[in-house]
Amino acid sequence: MNAPAKAPMMSLDEALATLIAATQGHRILETETLSTFAALGRILAQDVVSAVDVPPADNTSMDGYAMRAADVPAPGTVLPVSQRIPAGSVGQPLQPGTAARIFTGAQVPPGADAVVMQEVCEAMAGDVVGLSAEGLGQVRVNTPPAAGQWVRRRGEDVFSGSVVLAAGARLTPQALGLAATVGAATLSLVRRPRVALFSTGDELVMPGEPLPPGAIYNSNRFTLRGLLEAAGCTVSDLGIVPDRLDATRAALRAAAEGSDLILTSGGVSVGEEDHLRPAAQAEGRIALWQMATKPGRPLAFGAIRRADASEALLLGLPGNPVSSYITFLLVVAPVLRAMQGVPLTAADALPAALHLQAGFDWPKPDKRREFLRVRLGTDGRLELFPNQSSGVLTSAVWADGLLDNPAGQVIARGDTVRFLPLQALISA
Ligand code: AMP
Ligand code: MG
Repeated sequence: MNAPAKAPMMSLDEALATLIAATQGHRILETETLSTFAALGRILAQDVVSAVDVPPADNTSMDGYAMRAADVPAPGTVLPVSQRIPAGSVGQPLQPGTAARIFTGAQVPPGADAVVMQEVCEAMAGDVVGLSAEGLGQVRVNTPPAAGQWVRRRGEDVFSGSVVLAAGARLTPQALGLAATVGAATLSLVRRPRVALFSTGDELVMPGEPLPPGAIYNSNRFTLRGLLEAAGCTVSDLGIVPDRLDATRAALRAAAEGSDLILTSGGVSVGEEDHLRPAAQAEGRIALWQMATKPGRPLAFGAIRRADASEALLLGLPGNPVSSYITFLLVVAPVLRAMQGVPLTAADALPAALHLQAGFDWPKPDKRREFLRVRLGTDGRLELFPNQSSGVLTSAVWADGLLDNPAGQVIARGDTVRFLPLQALISA
């Protein structure tokens, strides 16, 4: 057997550019229209255009009295109360020289241009014949209003005809609220990516099973499946695949049917027990890269033939738990978005970094670009998890972000560094 060629070194940016370009032939073009209730976390396939102004009419943001500002030239002006307008009902045009009792969210009647909150008004008994509505009496206005005061303007949030959510947007809870506020009961969504997942490694056993000598529990299966589900994918979980060529080939063949992407962990080095490369070569094609990042060195990228001669993309992540986790955030998450038609380039595939101060020293940086597990301290500086080994999963749970450190960059306490918040990496 020929010795495997040394895998080429790749920067993260080069890897992202290559992968994003490769997804263009593997875009998920199917869409589905679902209830807005069912769209959380999904990618919009079509712009949401508002058919209404929001708010649909001028309305009051306070409980109080609506009036014409010009009718209250001085503190203590008394006006008859000519109508009462609770939220949800529409008042009559306001008679000049009167006030309308009004409640938060109710439409300001035509003719009124200001609201005075009830705290600076005094309700007074005694109707003014012809001006007060029966029993509503009068109001003393202790603070004259400025025109426009406490009035939420028609369309101040959204104008009819404007795009409130663009195709390619991920639907957060607040995006669903915005869709609903413009009346969208259904949304056009990109079909969920279908991802087949398996872990390689003869040392792996499942939680719930006894742990024989030499074995470890399979953690990547849970981390990666959770990340995929959080990214809105449908996961077909093929479990643990033994470290054998025939088993790996069979798993790839099965995984390719019905999935857009095959995601694996482990077995991507070039050791004798690493079968992903020869298996994928037999079932399709594969390139092994040495990513110039720490953690996350080996990364496999390829495609596996389906029975109908089409192909499923393949990404093989390293086996070390922190490496596979971080490689997912840096590489797989952008690939999934690109497959769903989110416009992306290598330059904007990762969330914008926050520039924060380090609260620690990092005197011996790696030659590769490092992604350190850090957390934002109460002093506003970043704290470092003490053990940055790529097997230490406690670091991934402790951290609330990654410090993106350029290759060879020494960090001294107080230096400004780049911080990628985990939340942004996971839900981008
Ligand atoms: P590999 O990439 O297969 O050489 O694995 C690298 C390291 O990650 C080894 O220490 C493996 O035992 C460990 N590893 C691989 N797969 C998993 C997994 N699914 N869960 C936990 N650790 C794993
Ligand atoms: Mg292995």
